[in-house]
Amino acid sequence: MQGIHYRTYPAWHFFVMSTEKAKISLVTEKDEYWMGIALEQARMAASLDEVPVGACVVSDEDDLLAAASNRTIIDNDPTAHAEVLAIRAAAERLGNYRLTGTTLYTTIEPCAMCAGTLVNARVRRLVFGAPDERYGAVVTHFGLCDSPLLNHRLEITAGVLLEDCRSLMKDFFRKKRLAT
Ligand SMILES: [Zn+2]
Repeated sequence: MQGIHYRTYPAWHFFVMSTEKAKISLVTEKDEYWMGIALEQARMAASLDEVPVGACVVSDEDDLLAAASNRTIIDNDPTAHAEVLAIRAAAERLGNYRLTGTTLYTTIEPCAMCAGTLVNARVRRLVFGAPDERYGAVVTHFGLCDSPLLNHRLEITAGVLLEDCRSLMKDFFRKKRLAT
């Protein structure tokens, strides 16, 4: 059997059945732990009034290399998404611009910029929580992380702590709407 492993999102079933190019990647027991670290970062972003997305990079030896939250508003930097910041910090820590042998955990499906960064960084595996119907560039649109047109493909796992990741976003934007 081939396909991206989906844990709790039956609506993606059709997509799973239609893709044959992705590597199998099962949810491991550790995935929820590391997603919890990413969620802490997402909550920190919310407390700073940033869109609540958090990410962390973990080595295949289970070392936490970096964790980051969205900082686009605070830093006046449209590239300061949690995933990009976590990848930058992990690369600096490793002293290597390639992050082979690592997994990136992020609470929300990466956008086109972040998905492209993951490919360029040669990250081995991507684990995300909730899909992003608008900007998601991994399974919702584009398929950038396992495209046969690109020179690197990631293993992809989706749906880890999905409800926690999604409810943070929903609560954040609901409060924003109420405030305007
Ligand atoms: Zn992004």
